Amino acid sequence: MSDTIFGKIIRREIPADIVYEDDDLIAFKDINPQAPVHLLFVPKTPIATLNDLQPGQAELAGKLFLAAAAYAKRQGFAEDGYRCVVNCNGHGCQTVFQLHLHLLAGAPLRGGFA
Ligand code: AMP
Repeated sequence: MSDTIFGKIIRREIPADIVYEDDDLIAFKDINPQAPVHLLFVPKTPIATLNDLQPGQAELAGKLFLAAAAYAKRQGFAEDGYRCVVNCNGHGCQTVFQLHLHLLAGAPLRGGFA
């Protein structure tokens, strides 16, 4: 997989507003937020799209969701609710080809993801 802007964030080559990090993943604020809270949860392992996720990486995929839910609970908006989105390839409007989970929250969200 070729390098992406998220790889540069993981390696601290470019700045980001990082809100969480562990051995497996990093989470930071989206530069163009679509909701009052808009974070990206990114595995440190380079995986271009959801299509490239392997069965042996199921635990890693689960960690992305668990990290997002844990963040929502810590920040106190879990009960109000939130949305997690993974965009894949062109029709999914994926623009950065390093697998990532969007976490959107902080207000009632519209029906679609925009
Ligand atoms: P996607 O369209 O699902 O690939 O989402 C990519 C997201 O990355 C978009 O919501 C962008 O706003 C966000 N993004 C792009 N560059 C950066 C950056 N340098 N820091 C934070 N978020 C970024």
